[in-house]
Amino acid sequence: MKGPQLDYADLSWSDNGAPISNAYGDIYFSKESGPEETDYVFLTGNRLRERFSNAPPGSLFTIAETGFGSGLNFLMAWALWRECGPADGHLHFTSVEFCPLAREDLVRCHQAWPQLAEFARQLRAQYPAPMQGVHRCRFVDQGVTLTLYLGDVVDWLSDCSFKADAWFLDGFSPKQNPEMWSESLFPLIASHAAQGCTVATFSAAGFIRRGLKEHGFNVSKAPGFGYKRDMTVGVFQAEEPNQPAALPHKEAVVIGSGLSGANVAYALATRGWKVTVLEAADRIAPEASGNPQGALYIKPGVEWSINTRIHANAFLYAERFYSEIANLPTPIWNPCGVLQLAHNDKEAVRQQKFFQHNRYPDEVIRPFTHQEASELAGVSLPASAMYLPGGGWLIPPQLCAHMLQHPNIEVRLNSPVTALERTDEGGWLIHIGSGESAQELECAILILATANNQAMQPAAASALPLKPIRGQVTTLQVESAALPQLNTVLCGEGYLMPPIADRLVTGATFKPNCADAQVTEADNNANLEQLLQLTPALRDELSKHPPTLQGRASVRSALPDYLPAIGPLIPGQGGKGLLIVTAMGSKGLALAPLAGELVADMLEGTPAPIEDSLVQRVLPNRFSQE
Ligand SMILES: Cc1cc2nc3c(=O)[nH]c(=O)nc-3n(C[C@H](O)[C@H](O)[C@H](O)COP(=O)(O)OP(=O)(O)OC[C@H]3O[C@@H](n4cnc5c(N)ncnc54)[C@H](O)[C@@H]3O)c2cc1C
Repeated sequence: MKGPQLDYADLSWSDNGAPISNAYGDIYFSKESGPEETDYVFLTGNRLRERFSNAPPGSLFTIAETGFGSGLNFLMAWALWRECGPADGHLHFTSVEFCPLAREDLVRCHQAWPQLAEFARQLRAQYPAPMQGVHRCRFVDQGVTLTLYLGDVVDWLSDCSFKADAWFLDGFSPKQNPEMWSESLFPLIASHAAQGCTVATFSAAGFIRRGLKEHGFNVSKAPGFGYKRDMTVGVFQAEEPNQPAALPHKEAVVIGSGLSGANVAYALATRGWKVTVLEAADRIAPEASGNPQGALYIKPGVEWSINTRIHANAFLYAERFYSEIANLPTPIWNPCGVLQLAHNDKEAVRQQKFFQHNRYPDEVIRPFTHQEASELAGVSLPASAMYLPGGGWLIPPQLCAHMLQHPNIEVRLNSPVTALERTDEGGWLIHIGSGESAQELECAILILATANNQAMQPAAASALPLKPIRGQVTTLQVESAALPQLNTVLCGEGYLMPPIADRLVTGATFKPNCADAQVTEADNNANLEQLLQLTPALRDELSKHPPTLQGRASVRSALPDYLPAIGPLIPGQGGKGLLIVTAMGSKGLALAPLAGELVADMLEGTPAPIEDSLVQRVLPNRFSQE
């Protein structure tokens, strides 16, 4: 059976309550002096207090670490950043862990540090499921981001690109964990170090000093912590550590206020960018993102393919984003779970294969029998199901409006962009409207989130092979006697959402290569029929109390490989500062939060929320390379 699930660390606890790894025979931290040791070895060893204190407003600082363990080093760096870093700066901490701690072990570890309790609580709220790959956690009010890779350190560093300002070489000692401290580690540390990046480790082993030196670090011994005689510190390609710097001109314009545009704007605004959002219509999210209800769901493939990895990663981030990061009021987001019904023989076989081939954590996906599914849903269902406990439903236009309320975002409605031009200064001139009301706006960074609309793109951009897919959802207004007490989202051929008041939303029709957004009765009837196939138990009630049907049609945008386009629209200098985010297909609620993060990381040069090999598969230029 294949991944993506990782095994939790197998722990014992010493008499005085220190966690010990049974696999490595080493302690995670000393019970008496864990925080003091971190402070001495990693914070002082990297001269962080002085560097954070001298950081100018708006600074960005990236720390990379081997061996996340209990998160102690992360929590200590976070606490120090809050204490003496610039209030409007951003600390990006990235780390790797091969054997993640189980949640209950994490709680027990964290109990040892009451001074870090509030940071630790926030970390646990976003702590990822044990799934191989990159996990993004954002502590928006704190100016702190964590990018945690679960898996092997060499796999991680061979498949990501960032430049750290400080490296914490932690993890179990080289004697206990020779696999991690291999010769191949040092060139990878160096290739992920900015000039003036510092390094610190508790170990004074000769091969570590030599390995770092050979790859460009000026290395020295320093007195070790406690009973340890020595430790190692160093600076990359410089005598002195670098100083955090602020990115110049953190300003951007985003065109489009749907899920793509709102998420990009929010990801940038929460990193201190000033963002102007231009929307052609007189309201936010007027097109595909304007449905009354939508499901957060994915349909993972049997193979742990690139496509499934991107969707799984996006789904896990989206769940965290809606529950913990975006601060959504309850009526907008309901994390009620999603049941993917085995609604026909083909899907039943597919789901069977899926569970035979894969090991996923129960908190992400698990099989439900017909009876379990019916009990959970609260209505009798016709089939077994794949259960996604982290899924749920949202109200997409309210979600967009909520994100766009961020004080760093200005939304300009009634602002149809008609053309874009390169300026002599290397920026972009945006032409808005026509005739007497025509306006112009200049910017250095421009992000297009206009779904299928490529009309305003500059001549140098080769058009993406975007495909419009018409879809209609239907709202049923139902008498209370016929209203099902559905507890969870049901998906099959289509979907059915739990009711809001006396309304049930169901959908959606799917007509490729059709950009017609007229509501049709035929589509309403098709949706009703689909609903009855998902829940035949409703047939009687709905025929006794016929509901009124109201449709809403709009157009999805998709690419031939059913992956989004996220990144520079025109590669190379000629297209500098012009990015696109589109082709969310039928999964905008899962994909758009990750897309927002990826764009922000591309613009800031911070670690990406997915591996490079996955980033390659969403770059817009993947079609021009074929
Ligand atoms: C019927 C239906 C049901 C769906 N159900 C779900 C679901 O349950 N779960 C899910 O995850 N996804 C669902 N989707 C998909 C999801 O809605 C889309 O993936 C998502 O809304 C796409 O967001 P977007 O911002 O890229 O596009 P849009 O929401 O279409 O936004 C594009 C924006 O750009 C603006 N714009 C375009 N051109 C210009 C211009 N020249 N100047 C200024 N502004 C411009 C438009 O006015 C629009 O606001 C569904 C889609 C449909 C159609």
